[in-house]
Amino acid sequence: MRLILALLLVFSTSSWAQEESLGTGCNVCQHTGVKTCSKHKKLLAAEKEVLYCSVAADCPTCQGGLGVDCNRCSSGPDIPALEERLARVEAFRQRPNAPQKLLDQTMVRIITPHFDILLSGKKFKDGPRNMSAHEVAHALATEAEKAAELLDQQLQAKLFHYAHRSNIWFWGELDDHVQVMREILEVNDKGGFTLYGTEPTYSCWTGEEGLKNDAMAIVSNGVHIGIHMLLSNAFRPQWIGRQKAGWFDDGAAHWFEDKLFGRISTYCIDEAKANLDYEDGKWHVAVRKYLQKHKENLLPGLMKKLSGTLWEEEHVLSWSLYDWLVAEHPQAIKPLLIGYKDKRPTRDLLRENLDMSLLQVEQAWRQWVLATYPVKDPKPRKKL
Ligand SMILES: [Zn+2]
Ligand SMILES: [Zn+2]
Ligand SMILES: [Zn+2]
Ligand SMILES: [Zn+2]
Repeated sequence: MRLILALLLVFSTSSWAQEESLGTGCNVCQHTGVKTCSKHKKLLAAEKEVLYCSVAADCPTCQGGLGVDCNRCSSGPDIPALEERLARVEAFRQRPNAPQKLLDQTMVRIITPHFDILLSGKKFKDGPRNMSAHEVAHALATEAEKAAELLDQQLQAKLFHYAHRSNIWFWGELDDHVQVMREILEVNDKGGFTLYGTEPTYSCWTGEEGLKNDAMAIVSNGVHIGIHMLLSNAFRPQWIGRQKAGWFDDGAAHWFEDKLFGRISTYCIDEAKANLDYEDGKWHVAVRKYLQKHKENLLPGLMKKLSGTLWEEEHVLSWSLYDWLVAEHPQAIKPLLIGYKDKRPTRDLLRENLDMSLLQVEQAWRQWVLATYPVKDPKPRKKL
């Protein structure tokens, strides 16, 4: 006890001493010691959210610090945070990733706690306005990180439960995507591709069918795949999409699209592109109608399929089932994921974690949908 007290005393005196020596700034810097860099304008808040942005790092005024020392007073409490940020930005700049080394071109790289994002391309559309690659990359970083934080709550997961950041790479040129696929991911294909495992990685061309350089579609797609990658990486690297848990894997990915954008547009299917768009991506009313029409038991069939083999309406049912879990049994989400990673059968997992049989789950879920889903779908988000 005496040792702990002594240590606390040392710590508190040293931080007090540090604050003293930092000084109190002046009126020019609002007593912070740091003046905000004027170059970042409306993206400043987004820059502050992320750990690293290659565009900000190239800022000739602040080198990514987002602020500069106040030249009037050279003292103040915000100086250590500025120095810490500059050191971090420099460390990331010194560590280009594989595509940055492979492709000799400018691309935006943004690093957040959960994701390492690359995006290239010239012009993107968000409704009537144009967006730059830099703006789209920040929108993706913001939304994907928001989804990741929510998933962490559902899984009671911390950052250290993921072996690695998940990579999200979007390419403005199809050739770049193909080259990255061939030389880094070792796949000969043109379609969007996700590598699961210790370092999950997604690569996709932004002109892909269904994306067409539309900023919202790209961000929504990135969030969907981002959730797949986090699920594959949480607690230990293992993709449950091949463990007869396609409903959980895709249900969750759809759930976050709906939660953030009010519209679901990404379908992961094994076959060639079948441009699916069930009920314009608005699924509440569709599920309610589907369940009223189909009285037979749906879950025994649904809950043994792999990701990529779900047919269109099964995507919708999976989303709704995950929606029910979140609303009614959130504590079961983590043990279900871990159970599937351990290759345990669905029936046992439901019995253990929900105290229900498959049939009871079907009844409870159906009742919940009919009692809670609106008769009119909520309006989807219009812009990023
Ligand atoms: Zn000052
Ligand atoms: Zn930036
Ligand atoms: Zn700057
Ligand atoms: Zn999916």
